[in-house]
Amino acid sequence: MTTDSPLTLRAALESGTTVLAEAGILDAVVDAELLAAHVLDLSRGAVQAAVVTGRELTPDEAAAFDEVIARRAERVPLQHITGLAPFRHLELTVGPGVFVPRPETEILAQFAIDALAAMPSPRPLAVDLGTGSGAIALAMATEVPHARVVAVERSADAHRWAARNVARLTDGNLELRHGSFVDALEDLAGTVSVVASNPPYVPAGAIPRDPEVRLHDPREALYSGEDGLDDIRTISRVGLRLAHSGGMIVLEHGEWQGEGVREILTADGWQAAATHPDLTHRDRVTTALRP
Ligand code: SAM
Ligand code: GLN
Repeated sequence: MTTDSPLTLRAALESGTTVLAEAGILDAVVDAELLAAHVLDLSRGAVQAAVVTGRELTPDEAAAFDEVIARRAERVPLQHITGLAPFRHLELTVGPGVFVPRPETEILAQFAIDALAAMPSPRPLAVDLGTGSGAIALAMATEVPHARVVAVERSADAHRWAARNVARLTDGNLELRHGSFVDALEDLAGTVSVVASNPPYVPAGAIPRDPEVRLHDPREALYSGEDGLDDIRTISRVGLRLAHSGGMIVLEHGEWQGEGVREILTADGWQAAATHPDLTHRDRVTTALRP
């Protein structure tokens, strides 16, 4: 790409899109527009409007755009370049050392939020086990403001990102703890209405296809034993101690793991285990109730 001026935004986007598509990025147009939005400090809609009105780039803007396109072409996650990941109505800060929240996890958050909002308590308690950037916990705390939420994360790096997001986005109903979900929440035993988790669930031998996941998401966020279900086995038992009677567990898992997750939960004593398809008809969330 040339930086000789005048370069139109339209031409920069076209050549940036080509570079990204050649690097194997599926949504190259979307990523190029979002990267232009980041460099120009505009919304994506404003970038599209500026294309129509023939906006030109200054040499500095063109050079900055070239640089972010080159990083994205190396398959650095878009969200690490912009520093932001959208999650429901929130924008979370993310970067190296923390799992980038995924759109499919918004569905798990919806189940958790609906269950929390329906609890017949003036101040129901929810927990988020392995909170990463804080995505699920923050969605629950901001969308069910009368609830109290406790989130736990073991990785020091991820915990730092979560702490930034909690400080930016909540005003007192979310407590973040640094430690393992195995034992960091024992004081809450028998009091939790909603146990939510998107734990690691990738089988140890399954190598994620996308370099963004394989090279940039932390290993401890992804892998969980031979069948990928080790953390879910732990969370089922831990959750049973935490939840009160009538409390709900809400777990994300891989699309082929629904049956295995229901078996684990049912064998441990959870009732009414049910797996729910996402918008693309894949089984990604299982819920169950504590008797
Ligand atoms: N909940 C976040 C989300 O949905 O974006 C992060 C999900 S990521 C797949 C799983 C997270 O669990 C990682 O941040 C990982 O560090 C954390 N984790 C794994 N084992 C843990 C444990 N024993 N205790 C606390 N956190 C743990
Ligand atoms: N869905 C993630 C992926 O893209 C895996 C997340 C997890 O293990 N919780 O690989």
